[in-house]
Amino acid sequence: MICLGIEGTAHTFGIGIVDSRGNILANVTKTYLPKQGGIHPREAAQFHAANAKTALVEALKSAKLKARDIDLVAFSAGPGLGPCLRTAATAARALACWLDVPIISVNHCIAHIEIGRLIEGAKDPVTLYVSGGNTQVIAFDAGRYRVFGETLDIPIGNCLDVFAREVGLPHPGGPQVERLAREGENYIPLPYVVKGMDLSFSGLMTEAVRKYKDGADLRDICFSLQETAFAALVEVTERALAHTEKREVMLTGGVAANQRLREMMRLMAEEHGARFYVPPREFCQDCGANIAWTGLLAYTHGARQRLEETVVRQRWRTDEVDILWR
Ligand code: AMP
Ligand code: MG
Repeated sequence: MICLGIEGTAHTFGIGIVDSRGNILANVTKTYLPKQGGIHPREAAQFHAANAKTALVEALKSAKLKARDIDLVAFSAGPGLGPCLRTAATAARALACWLDVPIISVNHCIAHIEIGRLIEGAKDPVTLYVSGGNTQVIAFDAGRYRVFGETLDIPIGNCLDVFAREVGLPHPGGPQVERLAREGENYIPLPYVVKGMDLSFSGLMTEAVRKYKDGADLRDICFSLQETAFAALVEVTERALAHTEKREVMLTGGVAANQRLREMMRLMAEEHGARFYVPPREFCQDCGANIAWTGLLAYTHGARQRLEETVVRQRWRTDEVDILWR
């Protein structure tokens, strides 16, 4: 069986094609880059609509397939930005109707975990999923992916991006902060907020900006921002690991590109005798392949949807999905 997956929750429009053996036949992504500021949802959606056809043609070509070879269409139905989700869903419905094949909704966060399990061979990891739009510590238990901890306000990627914008660094801010942090030498105390198993980054972000306005060295602030935020993320992941007694840790999402976060996570995993996985960058980022693979898992384990049921869900939680394939 061959599944075509469409991703479009935020800035990336992606089309991936996978087969039932887990071979990734194509993974084409088109990423909207705002001219200034953060992602404008309607502009991003227009970008997706404008790039959908090219992405589809490129994906089929790279998989050396014809549209008629597709047996199933999967799409990211949430969580994400409304206009973007609706555009991707419309593309998916149109394609499924035209090809007369089944369609299946996929939860974006779960897709990040499933592609990591496929590519890295992790079986049952505690996952830290950190991106521009999400920050969650997730582990499987009793039929669902449970959220053991999450941000109570802004996601870590957004914290880094907004901080960068406020201090005049270009978007996306994460890589800029990482670059400057390497040159930082002095730790400046910043608010470290862990509440129970949850996290908060907005106070940290505001205070880091204030330190900049007060004249502190930007390299020191970037260093301190990373150390503070990442320590909080690792602390919550560590407690989830200790509680669940799992033997694997996975780091994914756009912020997983950060070398310092990887190092801190790897050290923590080692201390617990757990294996540590970070999927290659192509699969840490938003893409169609993870949607295709997760849709295929769901369909082959009995999930079915009528077209009317393919509504998008901006706030679709990871722990609302019954996992039929585990
Ligand atoms: P995503 O939302 O998964 O596409 O990931 C995008 C987010 O990852 C943005 O917030 C980026 O700033 C962040 N990001 C990308 N590279 C890095 C990096 N090297 N360090 C920290 N954050 C990063
Ligand atoms: Mg994502």
